[in-house]
Amino acid sequence: MPEWLQRDKNLQLLNTLAVPSRAEAFVSLQHPLQLPAALDYAHGEGLPVVVLGQGSNVLLAERLEALVIMQNCLGIERLKQQDDSIWLRVAAGENWHGLVNWCMRQGYYGLENLALIPGAAGAAPVQNIGAYGVELASCLEQVHCIDLHTGEPVLLAAQDCRFAYRDSIFKRSQADQLLIQSVDLKLSRLARVQVDYPALKNYLESTGVHEPGPQQVFEAVVQIRRSKLPDPAEIPNAGSFFKNPVLSAVQASKLQSRWRLLPVYPQPDGSVRIAAAWLIEQCGFKQRQAQPVQVHARHALVITNPLRRGGSEVRAYAEQIIAEVHGRFGITLEQEPRSYGWV
Ligand code: FAD
Ligand code: NAP
Repeated sequence: MPEWLQRDKNLQLLNTLAVPSRAEAFVSLQHPLQLPAALDYAHGEGLPVVVLGQGSNVLLAERLEALVIMQNCLGIERLKQQDDSIWLRVAAGENWHGLVNWCMRQGYYGLENLALIPGAAGAAPVQNIGAYGVELASCLEQVHCIDLHTGEPVLLAAQDCRFAYRDSIFKRSQADQLLIQSVDLKLSRLARVQVDYPALKNYLESTGVHEPGPQQVFEAVVQIRRSKLPDPAEIPNAGSFFKNPVLSAVQASKLQSRWRLLPVYPQPDGSVRIAAAWLIEQCGFKQRQAQPVQVHARHALVITNPLRRGGSEVRAYAEQIIAEVHGRFGITLEQEPRSYGWV
């Protein structure tokens, strides 16, 4: 057993819901050359591998009979520059917001709407992170992976990743099959901004900014997020716990004829996204603040775990939310964070 491999590792400080959890074995990967020995160990012990970034989008059971590999390899490399574009290779362990910040300082644009999203760069393709009208898919070119079974490198072009709303093959056919080592991004040196997202547009207008540049968009996103979202360091949470349901136009209009105030967002492909937060609010979950596990008072999509209760309690509360929303609206909410440790 390599000396850098730990047994019976406490993961409570390594997940932002702060659920108590222990892993059979654990390695903090500092260098890609550690990986073959870690995989040999897992295969020899018959342990499945769970890859962890910064734990901001996972729900962990009390015990994981697995080798947890925390991808901590660092590095940002400029691959090439051509006309107004710049290509970067970012190692999976780089902190996402740190990367966005660094890009802003270099004058590399395209990520400003994705400021302050917790987690590591290597996790960003997993759910095609998105916020304020921009998704990672808009600037991702390639993902460099290692097959967890064979140890062989796998290179995926953006179109192979099947990016969709908070979704990709890393959550589906390739879930738990690949370890992401680095991502290649194509950014712009031109100061073009995307400010159509209503909350962002309103904030900029209300602060008197009429022709924002990337730095102003970055700062606006940071300000809006700080005012609205609980900081996991203070109130443990995993961000939005549910995805916004995507319905057909017919389904959405049926629902809207019964629930006139339901927020609906028609999408370019003809589907309609509806606000999961509204459904949860209508069921009265925001008012239930005496529970040990709650939804956040300012944001019904966020489940908080202030008393640092176990993953099973968080899971039970999520199931209660799903059941009540289904009972009232006939809609089944889909959980966003991945669960580990339950069969
Ligand atoms: P983890 O939680 O550690 O892992 C998440 C999943 O990715 C797991 O399935 C894990 O196995 C897999 N994974 C992680 N790293 C790798 C790797 N190197 N190779 C293979 N698989 C890997 N998300 C958004 O999209 N938009 C938001 O605006 C947003 N806001 C948030 C706000 C808050 C307060 C919080 C707590 C979360 C928010 N999230 C948001 C969710 C979360 O930050 C993102 O999904 C983030 O990308 C997760 O990164 P992580 O490193 O913490 O991943
Ligand atoms: P918000 O602006 O208050 O909007 C509420 C919800 O309505 C969001 O979920 C958003 O969907 C949806 N919405 C609003 N305008 C939309 C439009 N024009 N088209 C499609 N959908 C629209 O949202 P918020 O909760 O404060 O979050 C702001 C942004 O940060 C959102 O993009 C959100 O996804 C992101 N965020 C994500 C997480 C996470 O953990 N995944 C946590 C916090 C914030 P979208 O989610 O599709 O944008």
